[in-house]
Amino acid sequence: MRILNHLLHPLSRFLVRRSCAWQRRSPLGDPALWGLAVSSAGHLSVSGIDTLDLVERYGSPLLVVHRSQLVEDCREVVRALAPAPQGSQVLYSYKTNSTPGILEVIHEEGVGAEVISPYELWLAEKLQVPGERIVYNGVGKTEESIRRAISLNVLAINIDHVEELDLIHRVARSLGRKARVGVRLGLASSSQLGLDVPGGEALEVCRRLASLGEHLELTCLHFNVVSNAKSPEAHTRSALEALEFLATVKSRLGVTVPLLDIGGGFGVPTTKNMTGREYALYRLLRVLPRPPSPDEMAPMDRFLGAILDAVGEFCASRDLRQPAILIEPGRRITSRAELLLTRVHSVKRRTGGPDFVLTDAGRLTLTFPAEFQYHEMFLAGRPTAERTRLYHVMGRLCTSADWLVRNRLLPEVRAGDVLAVMDAGAYFSSCSTNFAFPRPAVVMVEDGRERVIRREEPFEHLVGPDGG
Ligand SMILES: *Cc1c(COP(=O)(O)O)cnc(C)c1O
Repeated sequence: MRILNHLLHPLSRFLVRRSCAWQRRSPLGDPALWGLAVSSAGHLSVSGIDTLDLVERYGSPLLVVHRSQLVEDCREVVRALAPAPQGSQVLYSYKTNSTPGILEVIHEEGVGAEVISPYELWLAEKLQVPGERIVYNGVGKTEESIRRAISLNVLAINIDHVEELDLIHRVARSLGRKARVGVRLGLASSSQLGLDVPGGEALEVCRRLASLGEHLELTCLHFNVVSNAKSPEAHTRSALEALEFLATVKSRLGVTVPLLDIGGGFGVPTTKNMTGREYALYRLLRVLPRPPSPDEMAPMDRFLGAILDAVGEFCASRDLRQPAILIEPGRRITSRAELLLTRVHSVKRRTGGPDFVLTDAGRLTLTFPAEFQYHEMFLAGRPTAERTRLYHVMGRLCTSADWLVRNRLLPEVRAGDVLAVMDAGAYFSSCSTNFAFPRPAVVMVEDGRERVIRREEPFEHLVGPDGG
């Protein structure tokens, strides 16, 4: 062990120094990338509202939704899908951010709902999303939720495992209805999701579906294979494999499947997922990887355009009618439009290593994606100050595992400062926990006005279900 430490120490010093140089030159230093500005007082501001004032008024931690950025990001995706065949739709992935006040804005833009749990299906119904604009995915569908989905006549209940087929059939028959059903294709052997294509399981399920035609209709082939993709190759490759399967279903079973659902996973220019190697170095040696460069990612119309072109060419070459395309973006629509504000309680000096910044937001309660993604952050009171010092930014749980980011270059941080964490709109609030502290409030800001869309979770809420 001592020998290992002896070897790793200089290596880790070298790698951290290199990471510092990357952070110093990072192209993410401009708040305008998130539609944010610097106020006349020199503070970070959202839609004309000073972020420090928001923390004064609503406390910390605080999630802030930038409504006009949300609408802009939503429209970019909708526009990009416009050239797709009739019947194509954008469905927002509820698990990415299920704050109702945010979902309402997204639905107002004509975007539907992609749900993966009974709760999310219930929420979509409560928000009055029509069945025509809902796809029900996921592993944990209950009988009761399948009954709701069939009653709502959702666009597709996508089967993940063979046992679901009989369950959906039984429920549809008991309701005297015909359920619209899809098949999730397991294209990657590394994933537990979907039905195996090469082994023939997926085709067998389609065959049984076709034989149960009185109560089941095969409407959709679905896959979801990547996360935060910066280029369209993975989507395109999987779409062509799915089309190959669609052609087989047509030739073997005589069934034309009208919808191809290519899932989510469209990246955002301002974050990136760490590669396996970067993650290993971050966990082992606390080396923060190279920041993403926003221009590495094509705009959404070119990204989707490449996939749609490949689909069109494949169908033309096989004389297939082009299916309508469903997409299920999550991160791409909400990531940039929300930020997290967190107050610094203390800066602890440590001899022999970076200082610790104690905040009230760490990965074990609120910033789960920071575990494996690069997220930009600013000092809300001095967003353009030069970054000169390395810090470990920590949460408020009593464990060294509750970090927000390690070896992060920032301007000098002082107790009372507020940190603004970017791209908090994807998997922050939906993955947040009430581990020792209640979940924070969410405010939405537009045109110089703010509105609380979620109150801070009251203590009573945490114990509400207890005692039967
Ligand atoms: C999570 C998920 C999505 C959305 O993923 P993003 O990476 O946020 O775009 C879409 N479809 C399914 C089935 C999912 O599980």
